[in-house]
This record gives sequence, C-alpha cells and structure tokens, in this order.
Amino acid sequence: MQELKKKILQEGRVLSDQVLKVDSFLNHQVDPQLMVGIGKEFSARIHEGYATENKKVTKILTIESSGIPAALTTGLELDVPVIFARKKKSLTMTDENYVSQVYSFTKEETNDITVSKKFLDADEHVYIIDDFLAHGAAAHGLIDIVQQAGATIAGIGIIIEKSFQDGGQKLRDLGYPVHSLARIKSLRDGIVEFMEDEHS
Ligand code: 5GP
Repeated sequence: MQELKKKILQEGRVLSDQVLKVDSFLNHQVDPQLMVGIGKEFSARIHEGYATENKKVTKILTIESSGIPAALTTGLELDVPVIFARKKKSLTMTDENYVSQVYSFTKEETNDITVSKKFLDADEHVYIIDDFLAHGAAAHGLIDIVQQAGATIAGIGIIIEKSFQDGGQKLRDLGYPVHSLARIKSLRDGIVEFMEDEHS
C-alpha cells in the first residue's frame, strides 16, 4: 500500500535492526485518514479471497491497543462487529473467557489475552488484524482464541510485516492467508527497505 509505505519512510524511526517506531501515525498518535484507507485495503483483499472461499467474514478480531483503529475501519467497510482481545496479566481461565498467552517482542513480557465467550461463537468466520507482525506470537494467540471458540479463520491482516523475522512465513506455512500492507525486508543501518510486492 503506497500511502502507508510513504508514511513509514517519512515518519518511521528505525530504533535498531529489529524495531521500527511509528508512533506518529499508528502506535500513539493515529492518522484517521490513513486508517480509513487501510480499512478499504483490507476489505478489498478479503473480497479477493471470496472467489476461492465462499464463506463471508462475520467478525474482526484484534488485540489492544494499536490494532483497534484499523480493525474498526475494516469492520466498518465489511459491516461486521470488531472485538479486541484484552491484555491482562495472569488472569486464570474462567467459564466466561477464552484466554491465551502472548509473549511481547517489544516489551519482553508474557501477557494473558482474553476474549469474552459471549462475543465469539463456533459459527463465526473471523478475520484477525494486528499492527505489526514480527515472530507471530500475537497472531498465534489470537488464532488460539478463535480455535478455542471452535470458529474458523478467514485470514490475517497485518499493517506492517517485518519479513526478515519468521512470523509471516510460519503463518503462511500453516495455510493462513496473510495480507500485509507493507512488508519490510530489512531495517539494517537505519534504513527501511521494502520487499517487492505484487500489491504495492
Ligand atoms: P509478534 O507477536 O509477531 O512477535 O510481534 C508483534 C507485536 O509486537 C505487535 O502487536 C506489536 O505491538 C509489537 N511489535 C513487534 N515488532 C514491532 C516493531 O518493530 N515496532 C513496533 N512499534 N511494534 C512492534
């Protein structure tokens, strides 16, 4: 997605060979117009998939907090509800919640993420959205929650995939459609280098 890549080049800060900071439009301050464009783009990619898969998305699932704006604009495009998994430390499994554990790459800590059973039924077809994809821990936690509900996964929408880390490959190897709007090949020497991509 050209607009997103342009924004990354103009405003992103490479903190190390591994970490990109984009707090001026995604992780702290949020650019609403960009989020509307991202919602349209995810929606377009989801519709492309309907040709091979005739089940419609019934819900969007993300994780608080940075996935929420893009999940919301995508939910608006598809006219389906948006759930955000909540991050809570050491919450024990209860009858009311699905719980999974996610190791945070940037914060170096493990959090429980929870979703109320009220909002996810076995007949749902769920599209997962997150801001970044690194090693895939957050995506796998969300997949685990969808599976606990007995629901199915329509695909995974990622705003920024760091393709030099293994999360994207692991998800594709498992057969999930992964839609990444910007794929970063390298952050070496403080320079953002994108992958060649058919969609961009
Ligand atoms: P994963 O779970 O795939 O290892 O990492 C993805 C999660 O870690 C995202 O939800 C995001 O919050 C955070 N993250 C991973 N890498 C980066 C990065 O380079 N920059 C920022 N801002 N967040 C990241």
